[in-house]
Amino acid sequence: FDDRDGFIWLDGKLTPWREAKIHVLTHGLHYGSCVFEGERVYDGKVFKLREHSQRLIDSASVLGMEIPFSVEQLDAATMETLAANGITNGYVRPVVWRGSEMMGVAAHNTRTRVAIATWTWPSYFTPEARMRGIRLGFAAWKRPHPETAPTQAKAAGLYMICTMSKHKAEAEGYDDALMLDWRGQVAEATGANVFFVIGNEIHTPLPDCFLNGITRQTVIALARAKGFTVVERAILPEEMAKASECFITGTAAEITPVSEIGPYRFTPGEVTKTMIAEYDSCVRA
Ligand code: PMP
Repeated sequence: FDDRDGFIWLDGKLTPWREAKIHVLTHGLHYGSCVFEGERVYDGKVFKLREHSQRLIDSASVLGMEIPFSVEQLDAATMETLAANGITNGYVRPVVWRGSEMMGVAAHNTRTRVAIATWTWPSYFTPEARMRGIRLGFAAWKRPHPETAPTQAKAAGLYMICTMSKHKAEAEGYDDALMLDWRGQVAEATGANVFFVIGNEIHTPLPDCFLNGITRQTVIALARAKGFTVVERAILPEEMAKASECFITGTAAEITPVSEIGPYRFTPGEVTKTMIAEYDSCVRA
């Protein structure tokens, strides 16, 4: 991923892709002092750019890092990076981390570094394959209690258990893993939130120990505007037996139907189809 043409915005200026490097004694690498974002650009417009830039600032703040750029500057830098790379449809990855000025648990004198990269990211599925739904296994790792980790931040360290869970799921032949939280309630997939259709209603777990995704919030608003009842509540795994449809939501996943979670089966249907169409027109509006 490092040997290619293009530009990465690094600490305020566009840098050739191959030169956007950091030292091995970077605090963020050793101690997880790192937060990031994932954004999608549709026809030249970044969906919810301001919300993502603000979440980056907020995530950094939770970890005690102050980004030396305003939300307006981050928005402008994102658009500058997209223009420099000629990308109108793709993915954007901003990342913020503590630098290599000192090494140790204490990191007061480290510089807060910022980079923004972008690349094309075509959809993995044809529309037909997508509607067949993906298969999830259960993750062995649990989303931690909010007093155990900064669960509301999009912090790199929280992804350690996501990568391990995803790898295990893939080794077992699944596409992804469903993570429960420390209480044993349904939480989310390894990089996306989860929704169920139960009766005529849409149910989704309360995001009290995992990311309240920007896509999740968008989908809830779109569903309510369409007249659906959306219930945010604690969901126990065995309740999935009552769900007819299931889908996951996220910037990268968009809305991806799920056909299977462990022993539970779902049939992507009208509600999922409606929400995919609504989301599609929303992001391109
Ligand atoms: N949960 C996790 C763990 C994620 O990585 C993501 C993707 N950022 C989401 C949920 C969904 O968030 P969003 O809709 O803001 O992309």
